[in-house]
Amino acid sequence: MTKKAKCYLCDKELEKNEVGLSKKLLGRNITRYYCISCLADYLDISVDDLLSKIEEFKEQGCRLFS
Ligand SMILES: [Zn+2]
Repeated sequence: MTKKAKCYLCDKELEKNEVGLSKKLLGRNITRYYCISCLADYLDISVDDLLSKIEEFKEQGCRLFS
């Protein structure tokens, strides 16, 4: 059974892309995941920047994103 990952800070259930983004930006072995808005806060960048990063990673064919 797979438990859905939740945001470490706000407890929101995470989309696949949010999990992927946490892994991609914070490292594959992390145990804490962040939703996109908490991640933006944490990294001190905008949500829009993160969304365009997701698009970039998708274009590179990264399988963490859908
Ligand atoms: Zn959050």
